[in-house]
Amino acid sequence: HFNFCSGPATLPTAVLERARDEMLDFEGRGLSVMEMSHRSEAFIAVAERAEANLRELMQVPDNYSVLFMQGGATQQFGCVPLNLLGKGGRGNYLDTGIWSQKALKEGRHLGEAHMVASSEGNGYTAAPGQEALSLSEDAAYLHYCDNETIGGLQMDYVPQVETPLVCDMSSSILSRTVDVSKFGVIYAGAQKNIGPAGIVIVIVRNDLLDQARRETPSMLNWKAFADNGSMLNTPATYAWYLSGLVFEWLKEQGGVDAIEKINRRKAQKLYEAIDNSGFYSNPIAAANRSLTNVPFVLGDETLNKAFLAESEAAGLLTLKGHRSVGGMRASLYNAMPEEGVDRLVAFMQDFERRYG
Ligand code: PLP
Repeated sequence: HFNFCSGPATLPTAVLERARDEMLDFEGRGLSVMEMSHRSEAFIAVAERAEANLRELMQVPDNYSVLFMQGGATQQFGCVPLNLLGKGGRGNYLDTGIWSQKALKEGRHLGEAHMVASSEGNGYTAAPGQEALSLSEDAAYLHYCDNETIGGLQMDYVPQVETPLVCDMSSSILSRTVDVSKFGVIYAGAQKNIGPAGIVIVIVRNDLLDQARRETPSMLNWKAFADNGSMLNTPATYAWYLSGLVFEWLKEQGGVDAIEKINRRKAQKLYEAIDNSGFYSNPIAAANRSLTNVPFVLGDETLNKAFLAESEAAGLLTLKGHRSVGGMRASLYNAMPEEGVDRLVAFMQDFERRYG
C-alpha cells in the first residue's frame, strides 16, 4: 500500500526495516537506542552523526546552529517572538494560509506582530509577490511559511528584506534545495520529510542567539539548546535516531538535488492528471502549487465518499483532505515512491471513467 498522509507521514521502507533490525540490539550492545542514556557515548555518536548528515544535506554554513527540540513546529510559533524580540521591535508576518496565521497569532500573543501581506483576497490560491509586502520598519524579523500544508500553496520566491527571515519549512524541508544562508531561522516539525513526530529541527544563525526575552523558559530558548548540544534535558532520543536514519537514507538516494528531481516528477504527474481531467480540480495558481501537498476536489460529497472508500480499498491510504478544504489531499513527501503516484493517477483515471 501507499500512505499519502500529510503527517505523520510515511517513512522510507528501508529505514523502517533497519530500525526493526536494530530495535532490540543496537550495534551489538544488547540494548535498543530507546533504552540508552542520552549521555552515553553510543547515543552521542548517533546524535552527532544525525546533525552532521543534516548539515551536509542542506549545506548548512558553519555560523548556524542546528537544534533538535521538542514541542513541534507549533511550539516554535511561540519560540520565534520569545527568542527574537528581546531587543524590542516587532515581528513582520506574511499570511499565506492556516499555518502562517497560527504563527502570526502567537506573534501577537507574545510580542507585537504586523501582517505584511495576505493571500486572503484571492482565497489563498496565490502568494503575495515581493512588491506587495508592506514591511513594518521597526521589525526584528519577517516570518513566513514556505509551504502551506493544508491549502497546498507554496512560496515561489524567498522574500528579500533587511531583517532576518524566519521560515516554517515543516512540510518542505529537504524536498528541494534551499540556500540556508538567506535565512536567519528555519524550523520544521520532523514528522513529514524527516522522521517520526517528537522532534522539531531549528536551524538558527548564531548571531541571533542573543535576542531572547528575559522570561523565555530554558526549554524554549534556542541559545540554551545551542550551548548544550540540544541536551538540556532528556531529548526525544529514539525520534532523533530515526531522523538520523532518514538522513542516511536520503544521502543514499543522492541527496536533496536528486530527491528534488523525483519530487518534481511526482508532483507534475499528479497535477497533469488533475488538469487533464475536467473531473478533478486544484485551485492554486501554477507558480504556487505545492511540491509536496496536492489538494484536489471532486464534484460533490457522494463522489468524495466513494473515492475515499475505493482508494482505501485499493491500498491508497489517507487521501482525505483537511476539513477546511474538503475533497482529497495527496502528500508526496520524500518517502513516497514515484510508483505510489503512478498508482494514484491510474486509480483516478479509472474512477473518472466509472463515475465521470
Ligand atoms: N507548520 C506547518 C507548515 C505544518 O504543516 C504543521 C503541521 O502539520 C505545523 C506547522 C504544526 O506542526 P506540529 O504538529 O509539529 O506542531
